[in-house]
Formats: sequence, structure tokens, C-alpha cells
Amino acid sequence: MVSSRTELGYDSKIEGEVIVSRRDAIINWVRTNSMWPMPMGLACCAIELMGSGGARFDIARFGAEVMRFSPRQADCMIVAGTVTYKMAPQVRRIYDQMSSPKWVIAMGACASTGGMYRSYATLQGVDRIVPVDVYVSGCPPRPEALLDGLMRLQDKVRHEPAAGKLFTA
Ligand code: SF4
Repeated sequence: MVSSRTELGYDSKIEGEVIVSRRDAIINWVRTNSMWPMPMGLACCAIELMGSGGARFDIARFGAEVMRFSPRQADCMIVAGTVTYKMAPQVRRIYDQMSSPKWVIAMGACASTGGMYRSYATLQGVDRIVPVDVYVSGCPPRPEALLDGLMRLQDKVRHEPAAGKLFTA
């Protein structure tokens, strides 16, 4: 017999082995913790991007260590380096080939604004050709800064209305 002092409240969220949640929460939880970056390494910032995958910084802690060199298998483009006008169409083409939903991190001063290159050859910010979700400052930004940018992107994805897009896309 259950004592009247035993706390046995009915929890509608947990019944047996079934957990009830919101669709958005589950979809965003999966997306947040399994981002597969497309490493768009165009100049020196790419070395710091590589550093973020090493044991010291370990981007795997955020579920983003699976760098894919095929756009069809990537959902997070990390533009690391100077975008020249010569490379710009290729960057845009690769972005177009990535599957949706997809996000973009502009890593470093060059990718964000053209950096110190106010020259005829340099695109003054990759956001002129692709939509950027997070800008990471620095020349170059350290791997910690990139990881901070990644966490900010994860926070953004975590709060997106995911399910609506899923069924209307
Ligand atoms: S921001 Fe600095 S480190 Fe990064 S690509 Fe430009 S010049 Fe190189």
C-alpha cells in the first residue's frame, strides 16, 4: 500500500520509457549537436581552423569534428580566409550545393569584411555572396574564438522554428 506521504505524482511527460517533447526541441537538439562543417579554407585563417580540430581545442566536444569536403554532406560552411573575386563564384556554388538547412560562419577579418585588403581583388565580406549567421573577429581568430562562434551558432539553431520549415520545404 502506498503511504499518503509518498510523493507519487503523475508525470505526463515521462510514462514508462516514453519521453514526450516538442518536435522543434528534438530536431534542433539533433541539428545542434551534429553539425558537419564544410571547411572553406582560403588563407591563413584556415590554419587556425585546422588547429580547432586538434587535441588541445577538440572541436569534437561540440559534435562538429566531421569536416566534410563534399557539400552534399555538410550543413555548416566555415569561410576561413580571404575571399577573392576569383574564388567568390566557387564559394557561392559550393554553398548552393550544400543541403538545407545550412549555416555559414565567417571566420576572421578577411572573410567578414575583406580585412586589410581594400584591393580590387578582394571581396569586402563573404556576406555579399552568401548569408552569414555568425561573424568571428580576429586576424587570425584563435581556435577558441571559432569555438565560441560555433557555440553561438548552436544557440541560434537551438531556438529556430525547425519543424515548420521541415514540412513546408
Ligand atoms: S583575417 Fe588575417 S589571418 Fe585571417 S586570412 Fe585574413 S589576413 Fe589571414
